[in-house]
Amino acid sequence: MRHLVILTDSRRTGVAFKRTQTMKKHILFLLFFSLFFQKNFSLQAQNIKTFRIPALVIHGGAGTILKENMTSAQEGAYHAKLIEALNAGYEILESGGSSEEAVVSTIIIMENSHLFNAGKGAVFTSEGINEMDASIMNGANGSAGAVAGVKTIKNPVLAARAVKNNSVHVMMSGAGAEIFARDQNLELVDPSYFYTQRRKSQLEKLQQAEKSKEEGSLNRWKDYKYGTVGAVALDKNGNICAATSTGGMTNKKYGRIGDSPVIGAGTFANKSCGVSATGHGEYFIRNVVAYDIAARMEYKKISLGDAAEEVIMDKLRSIGGSGGIIGLDARGNISMIFNTPGMYRGYIQKNGKAKTLIYK
Ligand code: ASP
Repeated sequence: MRHLVILTDSRRTGVAFKRTQTMKKHILFLLFFSLFFQKNFSLQAQNIKTFRIPALVIHGGAGTILKENMTSAQEGAYHAKLIEALNAGYEILESGGSSEEAVVSTIIIMENSHLFNAGKGAVFTSEGINEMDASIMNGANGSAGAVAGVKTIKNPVLAARAVKNNSVHVMMSGAGAEIFARDQNLELVDPSYFYTQRRKSQLEKLQQAEKSKEEGSLNRWKDYKYGTVGAVALDKNGNICAATSTGGMTNKKYGRIGDSPVIGAGTFANKSCGVSATGHGEYFIRNVVAYDIAARMEYKKISLGDAAEEVIMDKLRSIGGSGGIIGLDARGNISMIFNTPGMYRGYIQKNGKAKTLIYK
């Protein structure tokens, strides 16, 4: 009996051992299969979501841009100009040109249009003049250039690029920047070139509203303060460049300079991402917005989209900073985030068609 029991136990032990072995094999097989599947699946997902090279993303300013305040002709004009700018930059990228050439050519088209608050369409200062700021940063080598408070340079983005490429400095302002631009053979124009009736009446309405202090009237004109342009491109060599150009904010005072020419605030690019901002500049400077987004990506190992969401939708919004950013990462993933009702914006990715948007 005792023997039998032992025999039975050992038989049982033998069966149990075999079962355990078979289970182990199954588990190993499942583990191997799931790892294999996961790897292939994530590779597939990467192919779908990433490596959209070359890529280009642009903005034409964020603010209280509401459908009810726009005619379809106005909407059409904005879409058409954004598409023209995107196509010009993308053609350069497609034919193997650099991201720097692409962003500059894209921005020149927007600076030459009266629609945007940059170059030709720049807003007026409190003294009734136009003072422009621009900057550019190349992520491939970390070089950067900017101009601030310029009044006679037809395309401030060209002056920012000249500061970056042909001087030992990063930022030049006012008369000095204009002398430098002249020495660089850049086109200078009479300040009256930047006069547009639309921007002049925006200044007058804003100043009247400020004077009357009438409830709500100041808010009504608030959106006329925004409108900057920006572009970020990723070229076929994987290099990123970002640039921003602006007339600043309507009714700005005494040589005020916003975030747009401040590297790290309005513009930033490195090897992993590029960002161009638009919005209430003082908030963007104090919060080093463009760099903060890049730094969060690096330190927290999060995506560009998540980093931009944290900065624009959480951090800035909680302190009343309105505006948005456009950006892209080294794989061509694009981000366009804003906490205002609208932002003129658009993008093209590998083999794609230009896509433009205005409202939320
Ligand atoms: N950020 C610009 C500035 O504060 C304005 C804008 O983006 O519209 O000068």
